[in-house]
Amino acid sequence: MIYINTKDSNEQVSFRQATINGLASQGGLYVPKSIPTLDSDWIQNIENYSDHEIGFHVMRQLIGTDSLSDDQLRKIVKETLSFDTPVVDLGHKINVLELFHGPTLAFKDVGARFMSRCLGQFNNEEEVNVLVATSGDTGSAVASGFFGVEGVKVTILFPKGKVSPFQEYQMSSLGHNIKAVEVEGTFDDCQALVKQAFRDKELNKKYSLSSANSINVARLLPQALYYFLAYKQMKQRGLSDELVFSVPSGNFGNITAGLLAKKMGLPIKRFVAANNANDTFYQYIQSGEWQPKPSVQTYSNAMDVGAPNNFDRILYLFDNNFTDIRREIKAYTYSNEETLTKMKSYYSSTDYVLDPHGAVGLLALEADLSLSEVGVFLATAHPKKFESVVVKAIPDYPIQQVDLGECQKFEIADDYIAFVNEIG
Ligand SMILES: *Cc1c(COP(=O)(O)O)cnc(C)c1O
Repeated sequence: MIYINTKDSNEQVSFRQATINGLASQGGLYVPKSIPTLDSDWIQNIENYSDHEIGFHVMRQLIGTDSLSDDQLRKIVKETLSFDTPVVDLGHKINVLELFHGPTLAFKDVGARFMSRCLGQFNNEEEVNVLVATSGDTGSAVASGFFGVEGVKVTILFPKGKVSPFQEYQMSSLGHNIKAVEVEGTFDDCQALVKQAFRDKELNKKYSLSSANSINVARLLPQALYYFLAYKQMKQRGLSDELVFSVPSGNFGNITAGLLAKKMGLPIKRFVAANNANDTFYQYIQSGEWQPKPSVQTYSNAMDVGAPNNFDRILYLFDNNFTDIRREIKAYTYSNEETLTKMKSYYSSTDYVLDPHGAVGLLALEADLSLSEVGVFLATAHPKKFESVVVKAIPDYPIQQVDLGECQKFEIADDYIAFVNEIG
């Protein structure tokens, strides 16, 4: 399978190379040169296949045969889909796809596990150094996903005091090939350090740097799988005819993977993009103008993205046609207040505990679903991960105690030099 650069279609690479490179040149993103379509008989029969068979079949079409053998891909899929992704019926044609049963309790586990194992296969000769900045969730998923993967060392930069204790614990307690570095500053400072490192040609060469952020194809593509697995479950219940997916969105990787699944032939009727106050995409759907802006902090902080990275991929999937994008994706935006109110009222009426991201997804789904349709919103994280917000809505929610004393000691990277020495 050939992957091309969204900024320069002459740059054509294999899946393997796209994974190693991460970002394409000129800040472009890799996309499959042509979108493979699945046999309609296969989709009609999807409930007869195991989740691992579905994962293998879909990923085989997406990555082609030139980068991984059947045995390698089977093993990677098996290790990626190693936890359940159940669709839970909440009544009134509302369902939740729970993507938080993985090791770090958020959907990013799927992409991180797939990517880490691909990189492990692709880099046999020399050690690779994965460098990633995080505001919380990415770091914990990457730490867990890459833990123990041979030939790959991971350095995670996180802003001191700005991630939850639970996230900090997940990132910094593993040790071995995973190193968490606490940075005096904000997420943007962490990101700036990482970008600076990637721009430094000498450093890149010396340490064979690689990124693990959500723009990497090997993280993005496997996210298409849980739309297939959700469809299978809905089909088994006879409810798959008019499926609408609502996706709480930040960088728009998750929803891009869903759009890709549909393009491959999965019969999803349409999508809803749920934004918090970071409403760049919502504004785009209203006006047709793409105007990225600085992010603002909200309760659903994994979606605090003012310049969603995957927008160019959405444009590519729709051939830049705004009318088609608008037909396929509705968009909504919700405030912190609205999010909390929903978490509170939904718990009183159903006993279901929403995390703030899922709550935004549910709000958008309820606002948009028509009578004939069946809705599925994605619960992207376990409420436990955002318990400090959850207790504002549900005061008796049990808080989990995390003993940070067990973590390895952090190093502080407060300037570039210290940082470079750090990863060496
Ligand atoms: C990363 C994340 C999101 C946003 O997903 P994108 O693919 O960036 O749109 C939503 N919810 C949670 C809990 C996340 O960790």
